[in-house]
Amino acid sequence: MAILDAVPRESETGEGAWTALLGPLRADPTRAAILTDVDGTLAPIAERAEDAAVPAATRDALAALSERFGLVACISGRQAEEARRLVGLDGIAYAGNHGLELILPGEDEARPDPSLAGRERQAAEFMAGIDAAALAAAGLRREDKGPIQALHWRGAGDEARAESRAREIANAAGKAGLEPHWGRKVLELRPVGGGGKDAAVASLLAGEGLDRAVYAGDDRTDLDAFRRLDELRESGELVAAVRVGILSPEGPAELTEESDLAVGGPSGWLAILEWLAE
Ligand SMILES: [Mg+2]
Repeated sequence: MAILDAVPRESETGEGAWTALLGPLRADPTRAAILTDVDGTLAPIAERAEDAAVPAATRDALAALSERFGLVACISGRQAEEARRLVGLDGIAYAGNHGLELILPGEDEARPDPSLAGRERQAAEFMAGIDAAALAAAGLRREDKGPIQALHWRGAGDEARAESRAREIANAAGKAGLEPHWGRKVLELRPVGGGGKDAAVASLLAGEGLDRAVYAGDDRTDLDAFRRLDELRESGELVAAVRVGILSPEGPAELTEESDLAVGGPSGWLAILEWLAE
């Protein structure tokens, strides 16, 4: 696995690992998919999630890629329409809420994943049973994402205390039949078996004449996508699959081990996107 500086350049890495890994995608772009997480991967992490922004250069690179590549898709924990607002492009696909919602290029509204039927309110009903004032006092901010409910503690007065309260809530949620998922200073509660970035990758790549793909992500839920990409490579459905880890001090340790290529932040991923778009 190659670890690169924040902004890899061909000249700095010679005929380095990353050009060799990604060469098959650039050589036959109509058969290739560019799959990317949004927060921490396209958009630098902001103190408050609502302040995150995708740089104009990144938007331009994605727009250029969407004209040449078979598929460009953003796969996010945000709701699909919120991810589209943040990225600011209509002509690409968005899998939102960790794969529970999908917007294909040219579509207007997100369609919900049918696996959720009847359980759309399960997490919200659980959260409604927790005293809102006590949550706030513990430093936890609730985000209502419909079928997924999130608790954030980035910027809390005492982040360790807030996280410890989140662990108690995760235990209770597990007993109530929800699945806790941990991210960078966020706990998300989802209906059991619903979505996942792995499922999003599989459905985006199915039946599109695509046989090569790159996926970039920075967090624990992206490892699910990495593993699915690996399975598709092992089964022969993909002839090339590249997992790009966007490293940060908050990211999971497994990210480095499970990446084919790692960069030091969103600017490193942007450099790769620009190289693919050249
Ligand atoms: Mg992320």
